[in-house]
Amino acid sequence: MTASLIDLEKKYCAHNYEPLPVVLTKGQGVYVWDESGKKYIDMMGAYSAVSHGHCHPKLIKALKDQAEKLTIVSRAFYTDTLGAFLKRVCELTKFKKALPMNTGVEAVETAIKAARKWAYTIKKVPTDQAEIIACQGNFHGRTLGVIGLSSVPQYQHGFGPFLSGLRLVPYGDADSLEQAITANTAAFLVEPIQGEGGINVPSSGYLKRCAEICKKHHVLMICDEVQTGLGRTGKLMAYEHDDFQPDAIILGKALGGGMFPVSLFLAQEEVMQVFTPGDHGSTFGGNPLAAAIGLKAIDVLIEERLIENAAEMGNYFLQQLKTISSPIIKEIRGKGLLIGLEIDAKYDAHHICLELLKSGILTKETHKTVIRFAPPLIIGKKEIDETVKILKMIFSEMI
Ligand code: PLP
Repeated sequence: MTASLIDLEKKYCAHNYEPLPVVLTKGQGVYVWDESGKKYIDMMGAYSAVSHGHCHPKLIKALKDQAEKLTIVSRAFYTDTLGAFLKRVCELTKFKKALPMNTGVEAVETAIKAARKWAYTIKKVPTDQAEIIACQGNFHGRTLGVIGLSSVPQYQHGFGPFLSGLRLVPYGDADSLEQAITANTAAFLVEPIQGEGGINVPSSGYLKRCAEICKKHHVLMICDEVQTGLGRTGKLMAYEHDDFQPDAIILGKALGGGMFPVSLFLAQEEVMQVFTPGDHGSTFGGNPLAAAIGLKAIDVLIEERLIENAAEMGNYFLQQLKTISSPIIKEIRGKGLLIGLEIDAKYDAHHICLELLKSGILTKETHKTVIRFAPPLIIGKKEIDETVKILKMIFSEMI
């Protein structure tokens, strides 16, 4: 059965991913099951989109209740759900306004459009000269606009030409940012921790320093919290570890409660007012179903203390991983429940993910040498202990 389901998907689906050879059919909490009934601990959390656990009953109820009432009408009309959802997120994050989209990358595109228009209308950058600075090793998504910012050759190869006015600086180096800023710089777009780039954690104070530099040069500091936001790193937003407020942020992934694409671009009034009717939009963005799920996702995150659990379990997980003694391990790093285990380049992280799969642990490598751990934020010590036990076994068998 497994082989025929894999073959079916392979036959009709574009080969733009290389999934592990497992066919999943059910999820509950931290666990997923394959079609033979085998149970796995989900250490991948759908690339950090499943923070509340699979099929959280309160989120399923919110989805069902709203689905039976009203699902989508487009933004051509007001609804009784969108205002309440955006009020909740704005008040929580201390931003004045939000622009709803669906996927993370759409919200990144929204941020770039906002920054460019802000540069022309407020900063008075000459027409079509606005520049956006991002970091080497970034991942902000896959649209044509956004891959122009990538420093990974494969993400760009064969897809050019790209947007102009994009510049990259080394991640973690605030002086380089200051040097790269020109009179035409609109924004600095940065991930508080680089997720897809390999769980790269910059040194403490880096983001705050970048924010000061941006302020000094009248440049917007935009934090892409699509992966790191909403409790993943043990704070509501990852930038809070550095104690400052960026000019704008981007949210996605976990905002959809692990079941629906919901994303937001959040900013203060000065930035958001650049959008006037017709400038930007999305047929599905801000639909009632998304708004109902998004609101419940925020409520559950706070009520069930998932942020606190991410901080506590993240520390525990890091400590436990550091008890694995193996020459294969180069570094273990992360914050909260966003953890990367980097192995020596002689070995293949994909092979370790396959071994983990056999032992009932699901995760996927990022690049060739980093195994990522981004489980649902509801995880407990039991599942962490089990994962570490299996990792110890795998590493000891590899040498
Ligand atoms: N930004 C960051 C930091 C991400 O990690 C991702 C996805 O991994 C995206 C944006 C793109 O989100 P999506 O895949 O929902 O478009």
